[in-house]
Amino acid sequence: MKKSFLHISKNGFDVSLAKDDLTFFVKITKLSDTLAKCKGKISGQTPHICDRCGDEFLLSLDENIEVIASDGLYEEPQEELDNIIEFFDGFINFEEIFISELEAIKSDYFYCKKCTN
Ligand SMILES: [Zn+2]
Repeated sequence: MKKSFLHISKNGFDVSLAKDDLTFFVKITKLSDTLAKCKGKISGQTPHICDRCGDEFLLSLDENIEVIASDGLYEEPQEELDNIIEFFDGFINFEEIFISELEAIKSDYFYCKKCTN
């Protein structure tokens, strides 16, 4: 799902996506003509390889996410915004935000039940 930066109203809107057993739900609000804040949650279950024993297990996620989507290159160094995703075609691509946030979450270490007990 994509949405043009031009069509984000002041009131914002909600986006909900599902992938396998995961749900991505965010509220989009306009920060400026070129910036939009996506704040919400990724929750559900996704297969993951245990970072200790290498077995596959179902990882339960319930993670808050907050991403700033930038229309074009983000160049306002006076503001410390660390989680920026830049788009260069004038559209926010929510699948891309979903995937990139999920990858970021899964880059942490997670252990299966056997290894956490
Ligand atoms: Zn394990």
